[in-house]
Amino acid sequence: MQSFQPPRRVLMGPGPSDVSPRVLAALSRPTIGHLDPVFQGLMEDIKSGLQRLFNAPDHACVPLPAPGTAGMEAAIMNLLEPGDRAVIAVNGAFGGRMADMADRAGATVVTVDHEWGTPVDAARVEAALAEAPTKVLAFVHAETSTGVRSDAASLCAVARRHGALSIVDCVTSLGGIAVDVAGWDADLVYSGTQKCLSAPPGLSPIALSKRAQAAISARKTKVRNWLCDFNLLMSYWGGDGGRTYHHTAPINALYGLHEALVVLFEEGQQAAIVRHARLHEALVAGLEGAGLKMLVAPKDRLPQLNTVLVPDGVDEAAVRTHVLANWDLELGAGLGPLKGKVWRIGLMGASATPWHVRLCLTALCEALAAQGFKADVKAALAASDAKLAA
Ligand SMILES: *Cc1c(COP(=O)(O)O)cnc(C)c1O
Repeated sequence: MQSFQPPRRVLMGPGPSDVSPRVLAALSRPTIGHLDPVFQGLMEDIKSGLQRLFNAPDHACVPLPAPGTAGMEAAIMNLLEPGDRAVIAVNGAFGGRMADMADRAGATVVTVDHEWGTPVDAARVEAALAEAPTKVLAFVHAETSTGVRSDAASLCAVARRHGALSIVDCVTSLGGIAVDVAGWDADLVYSGTQKCLSAPPGLSPIALSKRAQAAISARKTKVRNWLCDFNLLMSYWGGDGGRTYHHTAPINALYGLHEALVVLFEEGQQAAIVRHARLHEALVAGLEGAGLKMLVAPKDRLPQLNTVLVPDGVDEAAVRTHVLANWDLELGAGLGPLKGKVWRIGLMGASATPWHVRLCLTALCEALAAQGFKADVKAALAASDAKLAA
């Protein structure tokens, strides 16, 4: 065997995003023991950093030792018991994944299905909750499969009105658009590290309300997933008299998350949100200047995930292959019903810079030209630059 040397790539797909040199450097610091007092200090720092990041001062916040899907699984498995009713809003791939998990947890699952590319309709969700007592309402705040933002404040309010606990997928939203767990009064929120936090994949920060913690303590049956059982997990992350061995924390990955939080707080969370919004506007102006169209209505768009319609006669996969081969640029493909019909362009965290926007427009126009689609790269860059100068 030989050492693996990855190529240098520019990551503008649906995640992972570019990881900054600072975070990469933090990952390579010496490994220490997970019960070392110094490491415990790091764990406390991460817990309070996550409370600040989620705006969840009264929630328990910890990173799970696995990617965003583990946060989703932990949310479903901890809050649902066999026979519980769960209403799940599905407007893309990740809502569908939550419904599958809830079904595996033995819950009675009611999905509220939406056309891909549209936000969750709070009135339809409320109608489903009004039909019968419901334990959990779950939805995705930022649906990465379509590039759509849903109104988390309204949906959490609907859950409260009907006495249901809310599960909110903030994997792609956290760090890119406002996530206000206290303001929403949300119960269980989970995220991931490789989207707008720009750390490597492999950790899932979660936030649990007091109501959610009480519901988990009051379960009639044990949580079926041992690693993600929040009662056990908190004996490790909990602090007071805790720190009993549960699993071995992914020590270096936590150095990376910690550094990513330091980087984000140095910039300022609000400044990062404004940066994502500005670069999104510049990218969209450039794409439209090149003659392309967006899938999602302007009011529902996510700045960090831009879904672009593939023009007639253009081979979706060939364009991605071209930009990867010639520009080392990774763009995302469509999923499910959008397969072959869209590209997904991520502007997440460290991948949300003017340089990334210009590179993407230049590379995309070249790839489109190779397919016989006349994209005017000068017009695209001029439109994008004009937005950035405004
Ligand atoms: C990426 C993503 C996930 C899954 O995260 P992984 O880290 O890939 O497991 C879940 N939900 C949404 C909205 C995502 O974008």
